[in-house]
Amino acid sequence: MQHAEITVPQEELARQAEFARSVKELPHRPESYYVVTYGCQMNAHDSEKIAGMLETMGMVPAEKREEADFVIFNTCCVRENAERRALGNVTWLKEVRKQKPDMVIAVCGCMIQEPGMAEIILRKYKFVDLAFGTANLHRLPELLYETLNSGKQTVQVEDRDVIAEELPIRRLRKDAAYLTIMYGCDNFCSYCIVPYVRGRERSRDPESILREAEGLAASGVKEIMLLGQNVNSYGKGLPGNPTFAGLLKRIDGLGIPRIRFMTSHPKDMSDELIETMAEGKHILPQFHLPVQSGNNEILKKMNRHYTREQYLERVSKLRAAIPGIGLSTDIIVSFPGETEAQFEDTMSLVREVRFDSAFTFIYSPRTGTKAASMEGMIPEAVSAERIQRLIALQEQLQQETLKRFVGREEEILVEGLSRRSRLAVSGKGRHAVSVTVDGNEQDIGRILKCRITNLKNNTLTGERI
Ligand code: SF4
Repeated sequence: MQHAEITVPQEELARQAEFARSVKELPHRPESYYVVTYGCQMNAHDSEKIAGMLETMGMVPAEKREEADFVIFNTCCVRENAERRALGNVTWLKEVRKQKPDMVIAVCGCMIQEPGMAEIILRKYKFVDLAFGTANLHRLPELLYETLNSGKQTVQVEDRDVIAEELPIRRLRKDAAYLTIMYGCDNFCSYCIVPYVRGRERSRDPESILREAEGLAASGVKEIMLLGQNVNSYGKGLPGNPTFAGLLKRIDGLGIPRIRFMTSHPKDMSDELIETMAEGKHILPQFHLPVQSGNNEILKKMNRHYTREQYLERVSKLRAAIPGIGLSTDIIVSFPGETEAQFEDTMSLVREVRFDSAFTFIYSPRTGTKAASMEGMIPEAVSAERIQRLIALQEQLQQETLKRFVGREEEILVEGLSRRSRLAVSGKGRHAVSVTVDGNEQDIGRILKCRITNLKNNTLTGERI
């Protein structure tokens, strides 16, 4: 598909802006809104766009969902229990609305994009006023206008791959910002629903990304996180075949102090990217590289397209080019048919790599994926025992790998008050590790220089310099 065909035309965006003005003029329009977000950073960023559009319709944020005139659930469908939780919360709001009959309830996000979900909303969730899929996000003003005017349920789901540029955004943080560079995924890992609900991979035009990044630099943002399901394959299908490394290099030149990105796929991680990171001025020395399993047979069944050896080769290349780089990963335990020996391969990979952090999950089948119909589900008790062993190993190794920071100077971007003390703040260092230092609310959003003095229970503490 040509890039021009998937980009929402300017005229359509202007039409939506017109609908936003019309909603604002409606006598009984909602005056406040609340967005409930599930899932990953991409969804969190979509919620910022939803909030941006709602504010152009004259709405202001409400403190609590039960106080809002318009409540929208931006859902995720990666895990089935997240989906159940979202639907449970939507149903709870139906009860709340008995006290607040004018409340408008909406549901959007990738759960709505699942086959059959629109019918379920129409049949079983009649109290939901508005539901729309990810391809219709930019049409929120029009859909809300229709809902408010007709008083009837509006459900819009399209199976289309689109890119909508320059939507209004209300960013949650002033110091750090998300910047989506691509949408969708072509990888079809056998356990993952994303390609079915988020569509084929499509990259944003590099000039639009640069314009957005320049705007963020001018607004004083200290950190940006480039987002995509598989940022390493950025550029596929774009004229001139730009690469992710090339894009990163250009963004590095804008002077934003800290640049991060997420998520990477080991099979697409190029030498050019490693060199760009090593030479970059502002690209942080951190890498999230999901491995999922340390066993080649399981990796094959997962359809990951790399072997354990290839993964380890990428890690050593990365570490040789950027010594001390912060490395994190995702691991799935008990994939269908995983034997004890295959699980041990994952344990040995974890021992070999020594990650700074690892997100570990017990496999749970996702309806609609290939793995969901695979034989060999692992009994719960076995999975629980395996994941405990893996977590214990990771914690023990983490305690050792984090020691390298003690005594060092680090710059942290303060994210908030420490959970343990109101006289301390915590933030992320350049290597993605969390550090707690003395401070107060005024430090939130600042970059602080500190010396790391202590490591206890995998938590680094330091003092300001
Ligand atoms: S790379 Fe695999 S796990 Fe990641 S979004 Fe794509 S299909 Fe899902």
